[in-house]
Amino acid sequence: MRRSYDFVVIGGGSAGFNAARVAASLGRRVAIIDGARQLGGLCILRGCMPSKTLLYSAEVLHLAQSGKEFGLNVAGASANMRSMHLRKRRIVAEFASHRVKQLKSGDFDLIRSHARFSDAHTVILGDDTRIRAATFLISTGSRVSIPGVPGLGASSFWTSDDVLDLSFRPRSVIVLGGGIVACELAQFLNRVGTRVCIIQRSRRLLRHLPVRASAVVRRAFEDEGIEVITGTKILGIRSGADKTSVSFRSKGKTRRRAAEHLLNAMGREPNTSGLSLRSAGVRTEASGRIITNRWQQTSVPHIYSAGDCCGPHEIVHIAVQQGELAARHSAGIKGLRPIEESMLLVVVFTDPQLAVIGWRERDLVKKRINFISATYPFDDHGKSILMNATYGYVRIFADPRGGRILGAEIVGKDAGELIHCFTTPLAMRATVHEMLRAPWYHPTLSEIITYPLEELAEKARD
Ligand SMILES: Cc1cc2nc3c(=O)[nH]c(=O)nc-3n(C[C@H](O)[C@H](O)[C@H](O)COP(=O)(O)OP(=O)(O)OC[C@H]3O[C@@H](n4cnc5c(N)ncnc54)[C@H](O)[C@@H]3O)c2cc1C
Repeated sequence: MRRSYDFVVIGGGSAGFNAARVAASLGRRVAIIDGARQLGGLCILRGCMPSKTLLYSAEVLHLAQSGKEFGLNVAGASANMRSMHLRKRRIVAEFASHRVKQLKSGDFDLIRSHARFSDAHTVILGDDTRIRAATFLISTGSRVSIPGVPGLGASSFWTSDDVLDLSFRPRSVIVLGGGIVACELAQFLNRVGTRVCIIQRSRRLLRHLPVRASAVVRRAFEDEGIEVITGTKILGIRSGADKTSVSFRSKGKTRRRAAEHLLNAMGREPNTSGLSLRSAGVRTEASGRIITNRWQQTSVPHIYSAGDCCGPHEIVHIAVQQGELAARHSAGIKGLRPIEESMLLVVVFTDPQLAVIGWRERDLVKKRINFISATYPFDDHGKSILMNATYGYVRIFADPRGGRILGAEIVGKDAGELIHCFTTPLAMRATVHEMLRAPWYHPTLSEIITYPLEELAEKARD
């Protein structure tokens, strides 16, 4: 192991691994330092991949249980939690072992230790070894936060890690929170046969996403039997021998719900407290989130940051883009482009899925950008009707002069796939007229996009 490098990455998750890979390809002497017992990062081990594996099993189960709708007799379809758990473990282990091979490829040094700064050019490992570097990337990710809700700290609660590792079916769960992880896991639990109640402080689920879209998800949840209580103030949480109860104010009344288990899904916080950032002069927000500029540089220009520890989004492809950008910028590559906020892509893997890309109505109004929009519902679309997938809609925003696509919002079956019809057109600054020149096969779910496109093409001058 060397003691001095061109680029040292602290944290080898999605952001850190990809930054190291790019930096090494640019000929830099690189090391990744990661202190985890198991390598792989959040996405592979306890985030995207295990959650989407389980959600897909739950979706297949839901379809089987809806067999009658399709003229099928699927008797006794139910979840085998142990088999689902083993399947998830096998799939995650495959992804993790591939990542470990990449980390041990020899393109860079891999140092298995926690690290903290002793000064702006030096980090100290767990065994007191000092590693120096010309440039650093901090990509230490995030951890579950425990907000100051009365009684939560003293109660026993699950986090997303526990739900993703379940090998039995809980009878009932109260989900605290209404964000993406809370909604995805609440629906998973409900579909495998757990009684689920979501208690959310904000007035609606998925409060960072469009109002109308989150209302569709709420309706689908309630139709499936999930109890959704929003606009609450939690008064207290108490864990007993076999139940946890939550008392809260809602609509002017004090109410209470109890369940076998409590899932704390109220969000995550940057994993930066153990890094001695002050010793290096790296500034953070009060939350511990590292402050970066558009090139991912922190307040100390040769120290970069990427991924969940600097935000502003907890999304893998953005963590990867940030890591790669930091690697290139720190190597002095010219002509780089910062990550465009106007290309933000977010997917929620509920069913119906919710996906947004580009400018949202809220931003367009706030920034006084002129726009036109058109919407089309899935319950009037041939392919979705025959699939019994009629929740939701497609909405497109475009520039009234010329019809350039500004953004899109889809709630519905496979919205996370359909939204990709817009990624290339947005990147290429295409117009509604250009999108309509492409072929759209019939009958497909994607074809629904042509209806609002046609409406916009009529409104927008070519
Ligand atoms: C349940 C769940 C589902 C999710 N689903 C999705 C999804 O579907 N799509 C999506 O885009 N995003 C999803 N996310 C978010 C996504 O997983 C994260 O945004 C992403 O994995 C963050 O990557 P990262 O590189 O910033 O951090 P991480 O992958 O967490 O990597 C951080 C690494 O830093 C190491 N480390 C920490 N401190 C130190 C230290 N002091 N010294 C050395 N090493 C250290 C850790 O061991 C870890 O390996 C999900 C998250 C959760 C929790």
